[in-house]
Amino acid sequence: MQDRENRPDWGRATAAIHRGGLDGQIFGEVSVPIFQTSTFAFPSVEAGAARFSGKDPGYVYTRLGNPTVRALEECVAALEQGAAAHAAATGMAAIGAVFLGLLSQGDHVLAGDCLYGPTHMVIKRELPRFGISGDFVDTTNPQLVAEAIRPNTRMVFLETPANPTLSITDLAAIARITRERQIFLAVDNTFATPHLQRPLTLGADLVVHSLTKALNGHSDVLGGMVVVNDAEISKKIKRALNLFGGTMDPHQAWLILRGVRTLALRVEKACANAAKLADFLEKHPRVHWVRYPGLPQHPGHAIARKQMDGFGSMLCFGVKGGLEGSKAFLNRLRLITLAVSLGGVESLIQHPASMTHAGLPREERLAAGIDDEMVRLSVGCEDVEDLMADLDQALWATPAAEEKLLQD
Ligand SMILES: *Cc1c(COP(=O)(O)O)cnc(C)c1O
Repeated sequence: MQDRENRPDWGRATAAIHRGGLDGQIFGEVSVPIFQTSTFAFPSVEAGAARFSGKDPGYVYTRLGNPTVRALEECVAALEQGAAAHAAATGMAAIGAVFLGLLSQGDHVLAGDCLYGPTHMVIKRELPRFGISGDFVDTTNPQLVAEAIRPNTRMVFLETPANPTLSITDLAAIARITRERQIFLAVDNTFATPHLQRPLTLGADLVVHSLTKALNGHSDVLGGMVVVNDAEISKKIKRALNLFGGTMDPHQAWLILRGVRTLALRVEKACANAAKLADFLEKHPRVHWVRYPGLPQHPGHAIARKQMDGFGSMLCFGVKGGLEGSKAFLNRLRLITLAVSLGGVESLIQHPASMTHAGLPREERLAAGIDDEMVRLSVGCEDVEDLMADLDQALWATPAAEEKLLQD
């Protein structure tokens, strides 16, 4: 057989295409096979005992490990420059495993004030039922984070860029604080993707992903991942996933790995489109404001430039005419799809105040920077001219916005 090797110095596009897999060990297959089996036969009682005890690393049962799932884990670990990755059924199952695996009764979590809605709800409503308290803080200001840490704080959990405001947190600055106090720093890296940002290299202890988004990239599968460097943390996450059962199915893993192979191409195209749309929207008379980390006036622009390899494909903007204006605009779009989720090859747009962040009390929502006129756009890989034309016609064709504009 050809003498193939995995090189640690491969570039990110090469790693996404080649890392993870069995290197054609069965029939010379180029794609990773789908090991659609729930259990694995032992050649003898002794061999079965060795697998159970961990002396033999072979497979036992798919909830505990499967070669197709392992291939995806190896690939994402390589992209994040982590030592190990553990796949989960969904992004929320991955986030759940981080909390269940590492926190105990009496512990406190300090979380970013701008988070994926369900993550916010888990910290606010579910963890307290297990005696784990949580607070929310503006992590873009490391000083506030340092001040909010309590003696029982065990973890800082944050997103950067954050959902949906795209605020940017200085990961190295927060990691200095968490390292000094020996608490975990967990970063949800879904918005950035490992192609643009690798939090473990900046001092984070855990990275979580919703693979449902850009890593899969085709809006057709759910999945999650936890990536770590430390062996002890890795064991605890794996145990939480195995015992609470949030692990991934082999067919799901295969589909996601297929998506990950083109991550570099998709992310780079979507980023280029997003930068052009941000400029276009900035100049549009019907747009109040635009938030995109690539715009020099974004408050996190300098930090994004320092810690990211690109500014991402998410942007949000305020449509003139308030709530009515933004609703009319969204209802007039003809190409860009009105749907939650993000990171697919197709552009998706949504209205956080009435959709993803409707669960937050209004004051909390406004305090987190999510006002009624905000729309969130996940830029896809279409021809940018077509996206621009669709945005333009919908912005101009909103009678409610027009009337309101005259009063503004
Ligand atoms: C979608 C998303 C999640 C949850 O992922 P699921 O796969 O839907 O469970 C978590 N964090 C962020 C930032 C997300 O966008």
